[in-house]
Amino acid sequence: MIKCKCTFAIRMLGEGCRYCQPQEYIDRMHEQMADYAVSAYNQALEDVAAAIKIGADELDKLRSEHDKALNLLKSWQTCLGARRGSCDDEGRVTWDKIDALLASQSPPTP
Ligand SMILES: [Zn+2]
Repeated sequence: MIKCKCTFAIRMLGEGCRYCQPQEYIDRMHEQMADYAVSAYNQALEDVAAAIKIGADELDKLRSEHDKALNLLKSWQTCLGARRGSCDDEGRVTWDKIDALLASQSPPTP
């Protein structure tokens, strides 16, 4: 008990040091570690959720760029002619190339 500097009141409250109240001290340490573990775990969950959100935002951006590109191709097609049949020979070749490109496209998926 030489190293203990706790007052009588503190010892009575069960809040003494590791010399005068080893078991209470250990219990408090365990409680603090448990609190720390819980908050570290919650922080990790928040970090993962934030990372997933960034992924979702990027995916939305990619989808939107993809849609823009497809719409540009469609606009180009209608510049060639209202329908495939109304295009000239060269226009029909380009029309078919655009059609093939549009058919091969699907939106980006995760
Ligand atoms: Zn003490």
